[in-house]
This record gives sequence, structure tokens and C-alpha cells, in this order.
Amino acid sequence: MKTKTRLGQHFLTNGAAIERIVEAAQIEKEDLVVEIGPGRGALTGLLVERAGQVVAIEIDGALCDLLSDRFGSQVKIVSDDVRRVNLPALVETSKSEKAILVGNLPYHITGALIRQITDARRVWKRAVITVQREVGQRMIAPPGSKIYGVLSVVTQVRCVAKRLFDLPPTHFYPRPKVHSSVLMLDFEANSAYDIADERRLFGVVRAAFQQRRKMVRNALSGVVDDEILMEANIDGRARPETISIDGFERICRALAVR
Ligand code: SAM
Repeated sequence: MKTKTRLGQHFLTNGAAIERIVEAAQIEKEDLVVEIGPGRGALTGLLVERAGQVVAIEIDGALCDLLSDRFGSQVKIVSDDVRRVNLPALVETSKSEKAILVGNLPYHITGALIRQITDARRVWKRAVITVQREVGQRMIAPPGSKIYGVLSVVTQVRCVAKRLFDLPPTHFYPRPKVHSSVLMLDFEANSAYDIADERRLFGVVRAAFQQRRKMVRNALSGVVDDEILMEANIDGRARPETISIDGFERICRALAVR
């Protein structure tokens, strides 16, 4: 069967890496595991050995047939575009309160998927995801770094994220042009942030990073004035990329009492 690179089909072939990823997910016998993009089942094979239940979401119908031949009733296959799947409803209909998410994510839609996965945070214990190394770096970037941005804030507000290890292109077939990182997103660890209104926060953060090279006073000129920035204890001359999540939250709280 030909691989479809337009669907981000780079299959894991390194046994040790597969073992490490599944091990990192800390799966117990009663766990429900949701896998995004199972492909030919490189991870799925080990997931069914360890979990109580596995649900796998795959867009490629030919791969769904292959998985169904290989795993039969051991895996519930959802043959669909994951972006159209209601993840919380999927977990709830599987009669589980929470699930573990595992996925070697298709790289062309990673940004949207990170939002979708973290948006459903109430149904996850944790997620172990493989992403392009640069995306992983952006997700965990602290303020002050050049790659800190919207994806960093969305990720860090919604879970405790850490990079576990990297995978070289040689661990995949066909080989991708990029290196990959395996990340742990812990949804049960206590978040460092107390966010009053997530929508407002993401709106302000998005506006600020649209013009990340400008001073925050100018980047947010349509949204806040100098008084709000003063109340939030933010130097209007600072660049958006130097403002911490707490700093953005203070701006939002000052806006809320206006
Ligand atoms: N898990 C397998 C492995 O590690 O060998 C395959 C990983 S491959 C990087 C990504 C998989 O996601 C492919 O099987 C691809 O067909 C599937 N995929 C791509 N876009 C998808 C989408 N929108 N919804 C669900 N699956 C998708």
C-alpha cells in the first residue's frame, strides 16, 4: 500500500522508540486509550496489550481496513477526520470518565490538533504525543524566548507539558525531513495558572502576537490603553514575547473590571 504523505503518513519503525512511547503513557489494565492516527498500528499493537480499551481514530479508509483485519474487536476504529470527532463525547460514550491519549500526530494539522486535544482537557489523564521537534519547542517555550507565542500559552495554561525525548527521521518510514519530539501533557497535575476567562486571555494573547515585534502598547493598541497596562503592572514598551502568562492574565483582569 502506498503511503500518503499529504496525510502526514510517516510510520514508526523503531521498536525501542515504540516501546518508550507506550511506556511513557503509564497505561494500566482498566484504562481507556484514545489513539489519534494509528496508521498501520505500530503503537496500537502495544496499546491493546496494556489497556482495557483502545479507540483509534484514522482518516485513511484503507488503513482502517488493515487495522480492523489485524486487531478485530480488540480496537474500536473510528474511520474519520479527527477534527470532526467530538473527543469528550467519544470518551464519555466509552463509559470512562477519563482516558489516556496517545498519538504520533499528522504534522500538517498539529497546531489545530493541540488546540482540540487541550480543549478537551477534562477527559484526559495525560497525553503522550509525537510532534515535529520545532512545534514541541514552541509548546514548552518560556516567555523571553523567540519561539514563545500563542501555542505556548494555550498549552501551558491547559496542562503541564514536558519534552520526553527526540526521535530522528531514521525511526520512521518514509523518513520525514524533520526531527520529532515526544511530549507528555499532564492534565492532572496542578496548573500553575489561575485563569478567570480563557477566551478573553487567548483573544488578548492572539492580538499581541499578531505583531510580536512591536511594543505591547502598540501591538494591543485596539484592545488596551496605557492605564490598563499600568494597572496590570506591564511596561508598555515591552515586547509581547517577554510577557508571562500571569502578565497577560493581569491585563485581562484589568480589562474585566473596566
Ligand atoms: N501511529 C502511526 C505510526 O506511528 O506509525 C502513524 C502515524 S502517521 C505520522 C499519522 C497518521 O495519522 C497516519 O496514519 C494518517 O493517515 C493519520 N491522519 C492524518 N490526518 C488525519 C486526520 N485528520 N484524522 C485522523 N487521522 C489522520
